[in-house]
Amino acid sequence: MSTSREDRASNVLWIAEMAARNIQPDIEDVDDPGNAAMLRAWDALTSKIRYLMPRAAASWKPEFQAVLNSSHSMRVEKIAVERKSQLQGFTGVCMACGREERNCRYSIDLAGPFDPWRWLKGADRVSPEYATFINKYEETFSKGFLNCATHRGKLPDVDMGTYVVGETCLRKAKLMYLLQTMVMDRCYAAEREMEAITDEEKHDGNFDGNFELSEQYTVTDEAAADLVQRQDAIELAIADEKRPVPEIETDASFWEVIDEGRNLVSNGDPDRFNQLIRDRAKKMLRGLKRHCSEDERGEDDEEEEGWGSACDDASGEDDDPYHPDERPRSTKRRRTCVVNDAEGDEEEEEEEEEGAQAGAQSGAAGSFSAGTSREQLPRRISSRVPPPSASAMAGMQRAAGNLPSRRATLVSLMELQIRLARQEKHVDAAVCTNAIQTLQELIQRVDELAHSVES
Ligand SMILES: [Zn+2]
Repeated sequence: MSTSREDRASNVLWIAEMAARNIQPDIEDVDDPGNAAMLRAWDALTSKIRYLMPRAAASWKPEFQAVLNSSHSMRVEKIAVERKSQLQGFTGVCMACGREERNCRYSIDLAGPFDPWRWLKGADRVSPEYATFINKYEETFSKGFLNCATHRGKLPDVDMGTYVVGETCLRKAKLMYLLQTMVMDRCYAAEREMEAITDEEKHDGNFDGNFELSEQYTVTDEAAADLVQRQDAIELAIADEKRPVPEIETDASFWEVIDEGRNLVSNGDPDRFNQLIRDRAKKMLRGLKRHCSEDERGEDDEEEEGWGSACDDASGEDDDPYHPDERPRSTKRRRTCVVNDAEGDEEEEEEEEEGAQAGAQSGAAGSFSAGTSREQLPRRISSRVPPPSASAMAGMQRAAGNLPSRRATLVSLMELQIRLARQEKHVDAAVCTNAIQTLQELIQRVDELAHSVES
């Protein structure tokens, strides 16, 4: 059965809308063809993200990988040379990979906690995950949030500090961030859309306080096409380093609060300010380094579990009980202002530091359609070499000794399926079943073809 990518994207958007509206999808009802299609779309998206994340990673120190993966918010800013070396501790070394670097003029602010893996579980887990996230996120805007700064001279825990990294590490960090927050960002965008619809209906006097349970309000052909395009842009940027990285959406109001906390603690002294955010970054890295080294993983097993599970629960979040129903209707925050960090536009130099950013922020008001802005789309597609196919990439990885043989992969997948079934994770086990059958079919086909060539 073939489903178009736009159909699958629509299903993903519907899952995001349900999360935004606090609706729990009924995934048990497998006889419903619409439901089955939704679950297939979800599996396709999450396997894709899982597949791409290790490919977006650079040879970072595991602790940086862990800090990055623990972030739900990222802000990229252009900084002056002097401030950059102060933030780096005058080492000239990239804080992500530890190598010397000269070219990068951007800093990365990170805030969390976040756990990408929790967002990639079942379609039925998105709604509670989003509720937990948004409740915590909205706390940033609550009255006493900066009490820690005013009373104890301490930055809020969500502030994970500022990192100065080299050009390649910056690019890859952005790609990783885009992948890990993709589902969460869709939910957040859906919530903003629902708010806009509510406001509009209230304004027109049509709103009775209710939405039809099964009606899809934010899922449109246009939104689905946007999502497909955005996924393509990310995937292409991972495969080809010459392609532009899609823009990072930042919530200016969120970072205003974080900056205010930093200002309060540093008492407005710029040197103390820089020292403070550098210390916070170093503390994060130290804490997660300890966490990572406890697992004692080889640095070079980059495939799959290499970086992912080593620092899996780095955020320190346990299985909190979910309280989706307690979620208040959120305030009017926007995670949509786009920082124009001029990736790939190296010609335009330093000067217009503030100007460029302010201009870009005002231009990106339409949250949901932000994905279609011109700069996000790959430019000059036709003149570029197509990205390597999945099979070519797998072949290269296998040749480099990074991927186990096809049959060993099949066997470990079967083992995973059994483990999942034992843990009664039947939906996940069913995903494995499909993957196993597909793999078996492909291996058999390859064998047949090999024999037909030989004979
Ligand atoms: Zn680096």
